[in-house]
Amino acid sequence: DRLPLRRALLSVFDKSGLVEFARGLSELGVELLSTGGTAKALSAAGLAVRDVSDVTGFPEIMDGRVKTLHPAVHGGLLGIRADPAHAAAMEAHGIQGIDLLVVNLYPFEETVASGAEAPAVIENIDIGGPAMIRAGAKNHAYVAVATDPADYGAILEAVREGQGTDLSLRRRLAAKAFGLTASYDGAVSAWFAAKAGEGAPARASFSGTLAGTLRYGENPHQSAAFYRTGEVRAGVSTARQVQGKELSYNNINDTDAAFELVAEFDPQRTAAVAIIKHANPCGVAEGESLAQAYGRALACDPVSAFGGIVALNRRLDAASAAEIVKIFTEVIIAPEADEEAIALVAARKNLRLLLTGGLPDPRARGTLVKSVAGGLLVQSRDAGHIDDLDLKVVTRRAPTATEMADLKFAFRVAKHVKSNAIVYARDLATVGIGAGQMSRVDSARIAARKAQDAASAAGGEPLTRGSAVASDAFFPFADGLLSAVEAGATAVIQPGGSMRDEEVIRAADEHGIAMVLTGMRHFRH
Ligand code: 5GP
Repeated sequence: DRLPLRRALLSVFDKSGLVEFARGLSELGVELLSTGGTAKALSAAGLAVRDVSDVTGFPEIMDGRVKTLHPAVHGGLLGIRADPAHAAAMEAHGIQGIDLLVVNLYPFEETVASGAEAPAVIENIDIGGPAMIRAGAKNHAYVAVATDPADYGAILEAVREGQGTDLSLRRRLAAKAFGLTASYDGAVSAWFAAKAGEGAPARASFSGTLAGTLRYGENPHQSAAFYRTGEVRAGVSTARQVQGKELSYNNINDTDAAFELVAEFDPQRTAAVAIIKHANPCGVAEGESLAQAYGRALACDPVSAFGGIVALNRRLDAASAAEIVKIFTEVIIAPEADEEAIALVAARKNLRLLLTGGLPDPRARGTLVKSVAGGLLVQSRDAGHIDDLDLKVVTRRAPTATEMADLKFAFRVAKHVKSNAIVYARDLATVGIGAGQMSRVDSARIAARKAQDAASAAGGEPLTRGSAVASDAFFPFADGLLSAVEAGATAVIQPGGSMRDEEVIRAADEHGIAMVLTGMRHFRH
């Protein structure tokens, strides 16, 4: 299944790695065909290149809208070499086979992201590129399709070794190629849908670029893969793994939850750390330094933190790294890291360190997809931010400044806790988190009990005494609130909107509790 590589067609927008690759091909005797800008770049590097216009006998027209859309190109990509009728057609029309196609597309998503006007966006819908990519990938029995500069090396290596590419490589490249055209058209469709006023979720395709297959899924008997959609600039999908074992499905899921949570805290304002287990936080804290924040986050639930994921909103420094490596941790994710911190983490071979170069924007628009049997549920991401909300005090007593800071902190965290979520906080650190319960009162009790446990272990008062408490949704009855009061909370933040709001507010007043309504719910499932 090894095929000799005689002719390559190169037509790329992103020209990184191009000249080196083309030079390698040329040295192996491969003839180079190319389009306008790409041909110019190759000639400038001193490489012999034949213009596609020369092959088609047709000039590039309409500002490049039509350059490779021609039977001489598409016949060369689609012809089945072993089929006598195809071979005869190629012969009759003077069509030469193209064995390698190197194409990447006009930067549609980047153009949208730059805020360009509609005409510029439309001009950046690549037509000829996807047509060639799909043609070459369909005919992968004879054609290798390179759509990612990261694959140039492997292709060159294969050609060098055996004068051609083998079928398994061509198949892998075809999978990537169709993944690219699918996600590209998905982005184009989403842009048109948004223009048509259909809002964010109208995205036709959710496939991205295959980042890699995973050893297994949520459980060992499930298979899994990771795809990048390119929607986020700094996140787990774009992170650089500095060290540690391969990431698992659960690692990626939990690390994402951790990083999105910690990104709620502006690094200019405060250091913040989140520790996550099974996609729920078991401790979150602000601090003067990352090391201090980590210590306070850990104190919330040191038992659960074992084997957790740690996310930081600032550059990982040596002091915090030294603390984190003291207990078994699966993953650390941060925007950046000091050399000294990297060296400290290196001592724990299995611990994965991910650096992202920045934080995801908590207010960014985006799409969330969840599968149900035979369907997909699509929604825009929860970009609600406590700093943007109109907070209303509804009790006789208003929260003190300290209580208010803790209320906001707790509500910020509650957004990232599975429902029903109850979060107790004191001095900008969580002291008890109740997650994923079917009744709100259970979440309140669990959170209080966890705080009690942590306090008994440390030999002190339960930290919920004098705490602020957040609820991700309204209290349907006063019982959840009363359970929080019993635990010692003095201030409450919740969306409001229950039929029994009055009853809940009356109960708060009776106990001298300060209550704030946000008007925004943060269910998370
Ligand atoms: P170049 O810089 O070589 O002039 O253009 C390369 C780009 O043109 C690639 O991104 C490729 O996908 C795109 N392309 C190639 N052929 C066609 C075509 O016939 N029509 C359009 N719209 N784009 C093409």
